[in-house]
Amino acid sequence: MKTVHRFPTNNGRIIYAVPVRSFPGLVTNCYVISDGSRLILVDTGSGMDMANKDLAAGFTAVSDQFAETIRLEDIDTILLTHGHIDHFGGLPFVRQFTDAPVGIHVLDRRVVSNHEERVVFAARRLESFLEEAGVPPKNREGLMSIYLFGKTYYTSMPIHFLLDEAAPTVGDIRVYHTPGHCPGQVCLQVDDLLLTADHILSRTTPHQAPESITTHMGLSHYLDALTKMEGLPGISLALGGHEEPMEDVDGRIRQIKQSHEERLDKLLTICQEPHSIAEASLELFGPVQSYHILLALEETGAHLEYLYQRGELIAANLDEIAATSHPVVRYQRA
Ligand SMILES: [Zn+2]
Ligand SMILES: [Zn+2]
Repeated sequence: MKTVHRFPTNNGRIIYAVPVRSFPGLVTNCYVISDGSRLILVDTGSGMDMANKDLAAGFTAVSDQFAETIRLEDIDTILLTHGHIDHFGGLPFVRQFTDAPVGIHVLDRRVVSNHEERVVFAARRLESFLEEAGVPPKNREGLMSIYLFGKTYYTSMPIHFLLDEAAPTVGDIRVYHTPGHCPGQVCLQVDDLLLTADHILSRTTPHQAPESITTHMGLSHYLDALTKMEGLPGISLALGGHEEPMEDVDGRIRQIKQSHEERLDKLLTICQEPHSIAEASLELFGPVQSYHILLALEETGAHLEYLYQRGELIAANLDEIAATSHPVVRYQRA
């Protein structure tokens, strides 16, 4: 278990970073914002046993390491940065200690409040994406069970208010809607500190999936939302939903944009000849295993979709697509 960290804002508030092990190999940073009287919890971890233990231990560690006692029972408000299970899955656990109202952006609300329904729809759309991507039926079955694993333990929880960038938010926290990685992804500004959640991470280029699977995802939204966060005045430090704090968030945004540019260039080269998403993914990422196959396919799909939207690619097998009920699309450079 990593230790908690304390970040004072320029307006006298404190943000505690509580790292929790959400899944093997994935640490999520939850944050507790304290103004001395009110406690706001940002994200909850995955809800797996280890994550719940780490969250509880993090609260105890704050009390042990710093001159402030915080308790799960004292949480006044819960904010969720986006609808991914490693950020909201711990909500039922936190709910055992507090009935604090829960807020999230409207576009991710149903993932948390109507999870079972959402998983069914998301799975259907993913299945047709994989089919169109040219993944053979046998491999599709395997990928679908990998996708559904870990999506069934969470029980839906009510949402009490919505995070809206045009409306005042609890504790004067400024909300920025930054869709792309997730439809309802938000960044939260607390005085001079920016919580970037999974929109901007210090080392990893946040995962992208095509908008054809879920609206308000996709590279187009994502790159626009990066530009939106570029050059924000008065930010001294950015804190991500994973990984380390970022002193130069603008520099990090430029690096992430650069890595997408490179990926787009590579795909244009690959698509000199017609390629399905599955074929292009294999060339781009090489052979990968289990969950990484799904991530690679989605990432490739998001980039091909972006190029296609901009007219850089065409569908090379239009006749076949018109004549077949479940066609595989082959992309070629325009
Ligand atoms: Zn995420
Ligand atoms: Zn995450």
